[in-house]
Amino acid sequence: MECLFCEIVKGNIPSTKVYEDETVLAFKDINPMAPVHILVIPKEHIADSAADITPENSAAIAHIFEIIAKIAKEQGLDNGFRVIANSGEDGAQTIQHIHFHILGGKKLPEKMA
Ligand code: 5GP
Ligand code: ZN
Repeated sequence: MECLFCEIVKGNIPSTKVYEDETVLAFKDINPMAPVHILVIPKEHIADSAADITPENSAAIAHIFEIIAKIAKEQGLDNGFRVIANSGEDGAQTIQHIHFHILGGKKLPEKMA
């Protein structure tokens, strides 16, 4: 089966983009869990999950975190936010294209799990 996020990158599935550069795309989550809920992904399918981060692709992941900081500022998340990478079965990951959730715009629950 084709990867849903690769289809979003190709433009075959529409998304509400909030940031884009050569290697990164950020778009609104279709089922927001907070007033701000954005997904940040590498455009290239360089990893299925955080379990696949290696010396070969970690520079791309570092770049994603710079963009996360930029997006958080642009979205006015000055009071804080949460970054989540659900990974694998126990992490309840549903889309196997590495991605980072940015959640904010309200006081999030203290318990993460
Ligand atoms: P995961 O559970 O794998 O960490 O996160 C996948 C996220 O993708 C979920 O929060 C889900 O709401 C979101 N999602 C699933 N399908 C689509 C879609 O077609 N468009 C957008 N924008 N988000 C999606
Ligand atoms: Zn993909």
